[in-house]
Amino acid sequence: MKNKQNKALYRGLLELAAQARELAYAPYSNYQVGAAVVGKSGKIYTGCNIENASYGLTVCAERNAIFKGVTEGEKEFVALAVVTTNVGSPCGACRQVASEFMQPNTPVILSDDRLEKFRIFSLADLLPDGFTPQRLREGQGRRQKKDRKTTKL
Ligand SMILES: [Zn+2]
Repeated sequence: MKNKQNKALYRGLLELAAQARELAYAPYSNYQVGAAVVGKSGKIYTGCNIENASYGLTVCAERNAIFKGVTEGEKEFVALAVVTTNVGSPCGACRQVASEFMQPNTPVILSDDRLEKFRIFSLADLLPDGFTPQRLREGQGRRQKKDRKTTKL
């Protein structure tokens, strides 16, 4: 039952991401991306990639969707969907930004623009051992007596 609900949620999210993709501003790469995230409140936020003649100022669809949600008061998201022509995966910057606002087990659903092919990952699959707010807090205090699992060289 839960699996069916998830499938319906994922499908709806991908449809919104596909619609957002239509608004992509990608005259340089010609690689249009749409994204949709679900906030903890249940609200959905979409984003598209927005490029710039100064290439480095380009912002990805995933970050635009997340930032839109944060701007509306969300601090946590429970799913991320991304639509591209080739079932593309989020870039490293977006994975890092996602890890700020999503749990490691948050589903990341990828699809082609016809919503025919899918890949589903957890955020931890895409960003193993990521640098999270918790890791930052751990490193700001005194050295922990109980370190994470490490190996002596
Ligand atoms: Zn990105």
